[in-house]
Amino acid sequence: SAQVIIIGRPNVGKSTLFNRLVGKKLALVDDQGGVTRDRRMGDAFLAGMPFTVIDTAGWEDDDPETLPGRMRKQTEVSVEGADAALFVIDSRAGITPLDEEIARWLRQQDVPVVMVANKAEGKAGDGGIMDAFALGFGDPVPLSAEHGEGVADLFDALWPIIGEKAEGGQDDGDGDAAGEDDEDAPLGPLKLAIVGRPNAGKSTLINQMLGEDRLLTGPEAGITRDSIAVDWQWTNPANGETRDIRLIDTAGMRKKRNVVEKLEKLSVADARRAVDFAEVVVLLLDATQGLEHQDLKIASMVLEEGRALMVAINKWDIAENASSLFNGIREALNEGLAQVRGVPLFAVSARTGKGIDQMLGAAFELRDSWSKRVPTAALNRWFDDALEANPPPAPKGKRIKLRYITQAGTRPPRFVVFGTRLDMLPKSYERYLVNGIRRELGFDAVPVRVVLKSPK
Ligand code: GDP
Repeated sequence: SAQVIIIGRPNVGKSTLFNRLVGKKLALVDDQGGVTRDRRMGDAFLAGMPFTVIDTAGWEDDDPETLPGRMRKQTEVSVEGADAALFVIDSRAGITPLDEEIARWLRQQDVPVVMVANKAEGKAGDGGIMDAFALGFGDPVPLSAEHGEGVADLFDALWPIIGEKAEGGQDDGDGDAAGEDDEDAPLGPLKLAIVGRPNAGKSTLINQMLGEDRLLTGPEAGITRDSIAVDWQWTNPANGETRDIRLIDTAGMRKKRNVVEKLEKLSVADARRAVDFAEVVVLLLDATQGLEHQDLKIASMVLEEGRALMVAINKWDIAENASSLFNGIREALNEGLAQVRGVPLFAVSARTGKGIDQMLGAAFELRDSWSKRVPTAALNRWFDDALEANPPPAPKGKRIKLRYITQAGTRPPRFVVFGTRLDMLPKSYERYLVNGIRRELGFDAVPVRVVLKSPK
């Protein structure tokens, strides 16, 4: 798998970033021979892309006083063998002499570097981020490892470097690239999570779905210690078909943990845990409460993590002014979630069961488009038409050449556009392409990633 090494001076947040990337899977200390004792390695997962991440935080302890000592240590194990380095700076502290020294050293190494401006939550570190450009590794990725913000940008920066390796080789366009062998296999049970603020009705909904004659084969101990997954079979009343669903029960996760964190915080934390396991995430709203900032925050996080999102307005049985409520929420979602065009929105009642089957049917469809691969020929036919209809601009008379597009991955769908002078391509043109992919290739409601790449 691709190896990504985290480098930076003490206290910039390397370990926090490591833990964020490794997520649920516990950081393992590799004390086998061959690697340094205190080198921490872990299996990372970034918006669906797997890779191995190495934390160098432990190296500082060997010789905390002198940079040369530390650097020698780093050179010893070296960035050799790493496919990319994440050079972490503290955007609130700005650039320190030690950062500059590390930058100088890194420039001599033979490894692609992505600079990460950490602790940038709420734009706290804008000043430091400006300075960082001067270190010569391009635009830093503003990130908050602690709050999980900026993950999508980090993905966008890393993927052009390690994507091919992480995804198991170049896509040859026929959809059976090595390493994606599970792509053509039938999709397993729909992994579905219900998230939302306290009292939205998550537990009630889950009980309603499972019903009396539920087919329980869980709780699943297999996934991880602290998630509860229930496998059940849902029969679609629209066509009589039976489908497998694995329901991730975040409410159960909470009870099991018996946590006493602040409730508001908790719903975001629950959602975060849930997206680790889910393919489709249902954000449950309470019709008597409407859509609040907190809900949008959860929704954005789900999309940033590359999961398919749908929204259900619960307690529809007691909703007032139903149609204006629905339209109001529809509009607020369109405005608040620029990452997708039109999140699927449903009105349900966990109490009476109304609307739930439609919602589940749509969840399967959503997973299909999230998992879909567009054949390369069709993709490039669309691409050529899009360029013809609206040719890329020629800033200062220099022609930007867009050559072709390929779908590098699914779940979520990921595309690479190849061309030259791409750094001059205006953001607005990039948006034009992304919108076209969504609208015309059937990815309306799922998050898609598009990166630009110039061949070397
Ligand atoms: P959770 O915290 O999201 O798991 O929420 P609960 O499932 O515990 O529900 C919170 C409250 O809302 C309970 O009093 C439920 O009885 C009520 N509730 C849940 N769903 C519905 C619904 O569809 N209609 C009505 N009228 N009440 C509901």
